[in-house]
Amino acid sequence: MSIKNNLQNIISSIPEHVTLVAVSKTKPISDLMEAYNAGQRIFGENKIQEMADKHEQMPKDIQWHMIGHVQRNKVKYMAEFVSLIHGVDSFKLLKEINKQAKKHDRVIDCLFQIKIADEDSKFGMSANDASALFQSDEFSELKNIKIVGLMGMATFTDDMTQVENEFKFLKTTFDQLKTQNSELKILSMGMSGDYKLAIKCGSTMIRVGSSIFGARNYQ
Ligand SMILES: *Cc1c(COP(=O)(O)O)cnc(C)c1O
Repeated sequence: MSIKNNLQNIISSIPEHVTLVAVSKTKPISDLMEAYNAGQRIFGENKIQEMADKHEQMPKDIQWHMIGHVQRNKVKYMAEFVSLIHGVDSFKLLKEINKQAKKHDRVIDCLFQIKIADEDSKFGMSANDASALFQSDEFSELKNIKIVGLMGMATFTDDMTQVENEFKFLKTTFDQLKTQNSELKILSMGMSGDYKLAIKCGSTMIRVGSSIFGARNYQ
């Protein structure tokens, strides 16, 4: 199957209110251009340098999403163009994003990453951390960032009941936090192996890589 066919199959199978982020990490520009020429305009990368390189080489109407763990000292390389940062997991990081956004006279949309997986390797804050932040004065002083939703990654397991419970927990957290912060609109959850389940559990944004571009080859 071609990238174009894969994309069309996924898009035709998801509801209209769900946004598809094409996760293109490790893939060459030619693959991304195939998706672009099939109409895809939202791409997700997990390394800032790689995203900046691809941004430079590709058409400028693409929305670039940073979906990976963000190192504070690299925020400056994406502040000018990034359209959504999914993995915000600390106030320190948020402050740095705010500072770099200000230099470019921008407001950068961000998602709080909530830890839902039962794995130490996964990043994220707790629902309580997020709630406390929304209520804090230091948060309200950050004028160059906007938290527009939440992101989560389920445990890497074949146990779909566990994955479903983790997605449901994130959806409940999302609904609760929305009563505190009406700007929350996006619930980013679901990847190639679990996006259908994620949508059933309330996802509004899925991050799909290998089902579009094929398996990744890490070297
Ligand atoms: C790589 C990655 C994805 C996409 O994974 P696939 O299984 O290839 O769809 C989604 N989200 C994050 C945060 C990722 O790092």
